[in-house]
Amino acid sequence: MLDDVLCSYCLRGRSVTGPMACSPLAAICLDCATSAVENLAHAAEHPTRAPGEPFNYWSHLSDDALLARLPEVAAAGAQVEEHLKTWVGAARERGLSWARIGTALDMTRQSAWERFADRSDGTGRPERDERGSGRHPA
Ligand SMILES: [Zn+2]
Repeated sequence: MLDDVLCSYCLRGRSVTGPMACSPLAAICLDCATSAVENLAHAAEHPTRAPGEPFNYWSHLSDDALLARLPEVAAAGAQVEEHLKTWVGAARERGLSWARIGTALDMTRQSAWERFADRSDGTGRPERDERGSGRHPA
């Protein structure tokens, strides 16, 4: 479940940071939210690029700094995947079909089942379908 939510910005756990604002895709702790608001206010007052110009966070990083960020980005991706599995589990607990979950995720029913079934039922095993074969999603 979401007991060990990490701040998507500083990657500290909720037990360290205190309450976080969470969405299905990201979480932010109070320290990072406060810093972000300050940075946004500063950026609004002191723009460094033209309006609409894309921002490449990594453009100002050294090679070593960029490489050091890769595991952090991977950890954030893993957390997003964990959130997705939790949300799919919630959908399954409501009795929503693999077909509807697959449609919501722009994937086939079979793909959704193969990706999430072993986690959503809490048993570590794929769920049995309505025909009882255990090889095809409901
Ligand atoms: Zn944070």
